[in-house]
Amino acid sequence: MQTKEFIELENRLGAHNYKPLDVVLTRGEGIWVWDVDGRRYMDCLSAYSAVNQGHCHPAIQRALIEQAGKLTLTSRAFRNDQLALFYRELCELTNSHKVLPMNSGAEAVETVIKAVRKWGYTVKGVPEDQAEIIVCANNFHGRTITIVGFSTDEGSRRDFGPFAPGFKIIPYGDAEAFARAITPNTVGFLVEPIQGEAGVIIPPEGYLRRAKRLCEENDIVLILDEIQTGLGRTGKLLAEEHEGIEADLTLVGKALSGGFYPVSAVLSNKEVMDVLRPGEHGSTFGGNPLACAVARTALRVLVEEDLVANAAAMGDYFLAELRNLDAPPVREIRGRGLMIGIELHAEAGGARTYCQKLMAEGLLCKETHDHIIRIAPPLVIGKADIDWALEKVAKIFAAG
Ligand SMILES: *Cc1c(COP(=O)(O)O)cnc(C)c1O
Repeated sequence: MQTKEFIELENRLGAHNYKPLDVVLTRGEGIWVWDVDGRRYMDCLSAYSAVNQGHCHPAIQRALIEQAGKLTLTSRAFRNDQLALFYRELCELTNSHKVLPMNSGAEAVETVIKAVRKWGYTVKGVPEDQAEIIVCANNFHGRTITIVGFSTDEGSRRDFGPFAPGFKIIPYGDAEAFARAITPNTVGFLVEPIQGEAGVIIPPEGYLRRAKRLCEENDIVLILDEIQTGLGRTGKLLAEEHEGIEADLTLVGKALSGGFYPVSAVLSNKEVMDVLRPGEHGSTFGGNPLACAVARTALRVLVEEDLVANAAAMGDYFLAELRNLDAPPVREIRGRGLMIGIELHAEAGGARTYCQKLMAEGLLCKETHDHIIRIAPPLVIGKADIDWALEKVAKIFAAG
């Protein structure tokens, strides 16, 4: 089948809840992907940071195939010999006390909302059904009804109500606003260390430290959504390390499986997780042996290949070189590690047009909102690859 036929078929039979670039991919290796016509592209999205370890990493692939031939799913009605080891390795790596495994990122967010609310009622003593969770404007935490209910993005929430109550929205990066929003019923503060979908928005220095202190002073659980920023993307294993803090609860997903399988987890440094009793929460696939074997290897690859340090070094280089380009359409370039956003001037003609031009040059990027291009290649990228990419980026921006 040809590119055009794949696209026509997909458009005819599929729901139109995405607007992908018209490239039909069939193979991937490291930072590269190939389309059905044999054209090669550098992947500068990494499936929204799910393939930090690079496409089809051979070690993770081996773990997947090996485990798939042994045992894939038991449900949590029984135990399996991968889960405990996954817990131990994840806890050791992230310095956590407890883990609750789920599948998608949104499920991890839902999990944390349940756990923190229950903690609020049973430990903090908040009156029944009065628990409040504070979140930030322009957040992205997933697509379930609860989560889009506290989104400020019209496209994410319009016509999907009614929504769950109990959330209060404050501006991002503003610790004073957080301080003012706290009430005796506040149980949690859910925040991204860097807002990815909003366009790689980096909060002011000290923001998370201040938030952490306010949480301590007011007996509030600090929940960092590191589903995108975590596992090396920003040049640290967890983005919280940039501020030298530890969240009470941390959400990871995406790269936890290196892109092979949906695996997410809630990591706990506080006794919040202990409030959940048998029967109160779960998932048929959560913590299954296939997911655990894949995730264990995906974590091992991050460590053994020193991908966190590479993300820091390559991110610094990429960012500095991008800022050196003569690029009239660009308003601002920002980033941390290999999480980079290029914001265009309003009159530049839209980020999508530039993503299409980059695609023609062999670089796959995705716009976020109308005017921001995100650059987030797999963390295995090298300097020569970045030089190759820079040439393409320079070309399309010089041409206007
Ligand atoms: C992707 C993402 C989610 C949702 O993860 P899914 O696996 O798509 O449900 C939540 N939070 C952040 C910050 C994300 O980037």
